[in-house]
Order: sequence, then structure tokens, then C-alpha cells
Amino acid sequence: MARPETLGVHAGREDFSELGVHAPPLDLSTTYPVRDLDEGTTSFDALVGGAATAANPIYARLHNPTVARFENALAQLEGTTDAVAFGSGMAAMSACLLAAGQRGKHVLAVRPLYGTNDHLLNSGLLGIRTRWVRPEEVAGAIDTDTALVIIETPANPTLDLIDIAAVVKAAGAVPVLVDSTFATPVLQQPATLGATLVLHSATKFLGGHGDVIAGVVACNADWAVALRQVRAATGGLLHPLGAYLLHRGLPTLSLRVLKAQENAQILAERLAAHAMVAKVSYPGLGTVANAHLVGTQMRGPGSLMAFEMCGGHAAAARVMAAVKLATPAVSLGSVDTLIQHPAGLTHRVVDAATQAQHGITPGLLRLSVGIEHVEDLWSDLSQALDAARLSAAA
Ligand SMILES: *Cc1c(COP(=O)(O)O)cnc(C)c1O
Repeated sequence: MARPETLGVHAGREDFSELGVHAPPLDLSTTYPVRDLDEGTTSFDALVGGAATAANPIYARLHNPTVARFENALAQLEGTTDAVAFGSGMAAMSACLLAAGQRGKHVLAVRPLYGTNDHLLNSGLLGIRTRWVRPEEVAGAIDTDTALVIIETPANPTLDLIDIAAVVKAAGAVPVLVDSTFATPVLQQPATLGATLVLHSATKFLGGHGDVIAGVVACNADWAVALRQVRAATGGLLHPLGAYLLHRGLPTLSLRVLKAQENAQILAERLAAHAMVAKVSYPGLGTVANAHLVGTQMRGPGSLMAFEMCGGHAAAARVMAAVKLATPAVSLGSVDTLIQHPAGLTHRVVDAATQAQHGITPGLLRLSVGIEHVEDLWSDLSQALDAARLSAAA
């Protein structure tokens, strides 16, 4: 099979020579003419039933060729037969829970998770009960009503790693969903380790340019049918323009991920040596749970890290205010560097006790390193750390 660099450039473009085009066609139709009613009826039934394609797309909530190209490319990158795209990462997670809900009403999930995933699972909004477990408790916690096991690795915002193959083994016949947003298929392919559902907030690295909100689930054909049924019925669609931009970004995915990772390793080392920084959690420093999985499960440590400021909340807030090149903003995986405060922003929806238990402290900042020149990034971060030191001394 081709490698990620090659797949990123060519996947989802197999029919270009037949079509006589060099860039993906962008199809914005909401409806499609039905001249042959029998064919239309057959197509409608197939698509509502979760088929990937039909002779006639009928209506854009049922199928869109531009979205299907991105899905096809992503499936190839993840090593699955199928992928199903949604209007956001949360729409993708909701669809997985709704599809799983037909198998059982209870899921097992490992904390920490992305704040809104935690909130969705804890809220019971979708009629699913969540039991929070540690990875080593999965095998003992499964019962006949367990529909899904949910993990996120690397985890948000602690960057702790979870051994995917070990959780898959512990889950036995119960499918495992891995939120692989932080890793991208460039750094890890959970399906090759036995995960059934690989979820991405495509808003992050896959999009990579801060201009698309999207989600995608890579999976086998059976799950794809269930997810397409949910999508057609509940309407959490990815707009074709978003899919076009995502597909356009895939050729540079490897370059972006690897360059940002190279920068991140250097910045993590310098931050760890800085007097204002108490601790840096980064897989490339070995300062996270299961860091030994870098080099095996993960091809590299990635470009996200969390660091704890000496001086707590005030110092963290000062850094957010003082950065000039980095953008103080939530989200991650963009070509530009973003810095944010998990306790005050992304993980606010997580209850205080859970925050404390997972090291989401008032002084914690999460850094998503971009592809700028590393020395320009370090100049910016070190002047912001100096600003925090001066205001602490004042
Ligand atoms: C952002 C994010 C999500 C949610 O995705 P949206 O596209 O914002 O809906 C889920 N999981 C992780 C790890 C994320 O970073």
C-alpha cells in the first residue's frame, strides 16, 4: 500500500484522468434531476438505507460526490474500507453514539477526553449512560449492554497516551472508538491496531488552515452503513465546500504534521528548561503516560503540548495576553501556532473535580505548534514568559 505522503496527494483522485480534470470537481447541488423514476426510487431507498453511492444522488443530505471524494481519501489514509464525514467533530461523535445506541445503552470511556466529548458523554443527552474507567479496568467493566469503548490518544489536554491494541484486546467483541484527532493518520492508524471507529475533528490538522469545521469517522462497511443512516436521518452534514477544502489540504498533511512536530520537539525542550515553566507534558520528552508508545503506536510525538506555569492562573493569563506571533485561541492543528488555557476555555464544561484529577490546573497552557520558523516562535514565547515573570515580580 502507498505511504501516507503519497496517499495524501493521490487518494480520492483515482478517476481524474477518466473525468479529464486535474482538481476535484466541487458539486454544490442540493437536488439532482430524476428523469427515470424507477432508478430514482431505487437510489433513494439505497441511500436512506446507508449505501455509499447510488445511480442518482437524489438529494444532498443523502449523498454528495465532493464529500465522498474526501471520505474515500481519508479511508485510504486510515487503512479502512470506508469513512463518513460530518459537519463537525461533535456531529461525528454524536452519530457514533446514536449508531452504537442500537446495540446497547451503555458505553465505557477513558478520561481525559476533549472537553465537549466529556460533556456529551456525561450529560446523557443522547440517552446513553457512560461509565468512566481507566484503561486497565475496561475488561472487567464490560457487560451485555456495553455498546462501545471510547478512548482518545494522545489525550486532550494532558497528552497522555493509551495503548490502543491493549484496549482493543480488553474490549473483546465490543467495538473501540479512538478519537485520533491529535495524531492524524500521518502519526497513527488506530484501525490497523484493531480499533473499529477512528474519529477525527477534521477542523484541526486535517483542515489545517483554520477555515473548516468538520468531523469524520473511518470504519468498516457495516459501521459506515449505520453512520450514513444516522447522517441521512439527523442531517449532521459536511458542506461540500468544506469537503473540497479538506481534500485540497490532504496533499500537504504529512508536510504540515512533520514540520510542526519538529518545531514542537525544540520548543518543548526549551520550555522545560525555562525558569517560569514548572512542567512540560509532551510525548517527545517522555513526560506523559505511556510515552514508550512513541516510535511504535505513534510514528512521532506530534505537535501539541501542555505546560504548567509557575505563578498559576495569573501567569498563564499573562502569557495569553503577551504572545504576538502565536494566536491566543482555542482549536489546534493549524499551520499557525495557537495557545490556550484549558481550565478557562476548552475544558470548562468538565467538572472541577475531574479537571483537578487530570492535571487541568489554573496554570496550565496548551500549545499547538505551527509550521512557522522555530526561532521566531521561540522569540515570541520567551518574550511572553518574560512578561509573565516581570508582572509576577512587580
Ligand atoms: C475539536 C475536537 C473535537 C470536536 O470537534 P469539532 O470539530 O470542534 O466539533 C473532538 N475531539 C478532539 C480531540 C478535538 O480536538
